[in-house]
Amino acid sequence: MHAPEFLTLADDPVLDLLNTEDLVGNGRYDFLQTDDDTVAWMKMMGFLDELYEPSFMRGDLLKKLRALRDVVRKLVTQRKSGNAVDIAALNAFLVHARYHIKLVRSVNGQLAVIHEYERSTPEQVLAGVAEAAAELLAVGDFERVKKCENDKCVRWFYDKTKAHCRRWCSMSLCGNRHKVANFRARQRSALLHK
Ligand SMILES: [Zn+2]
Repeated sequence: MHAPEFLTLADDPVLDLLNTEDLVGNGRYDFLQTDDDTVAWMKMMGFLDELYEPSFMRGDLLKKLRALRDVVRKLVTQRKSGNAVDIAALNAFLVHARYHIKLVRSVNGQLAVIHEYERSTPEQVLAGVAEAAAELLAVGDFERVKKCENDKCVRWFYDKTKAHCRRWCSMSLCGNRHKVANFRARQRSALLHK
């Protein structure tokens, strides 16, 4: 299965979901193009186990994850700007979630409590993602949920630095560009004031 190179720079899987939609040049690029992409992304983020194979109508899973992403983007933006969060929009996804609680033993013998989700419908497959989004909205520290400061960049991240000082989705993608632009601006102004 060919999987595109998903961005994993957000330090949070829900914000990484938002970053599967990116800007390339002046256009929007969607890293999620097929059901396979959807499954690959969910496996990479730990929402599905490696052996999972979907068996739905073609395109269903992709369509539903894209719809969930739109809702999460809207709600994260609302929460970040201090507006009322449209909880009904996310509850429309959460209502499908069914799970059992299970005590499991990992290979190193450690015990963990997990949610074992039912996966009879595409919505149920996405339940873990919807739940993680609800958790982020409810208990996430939105001082640390940030959009990259580059206004030409649409990526989000969770700032886990001690001093809350992260400004860029990635130093190499946006931070350095900013530094270079600043340097050039300083050079220009130095020349003008000579
Ligand atoms: Zn950026």
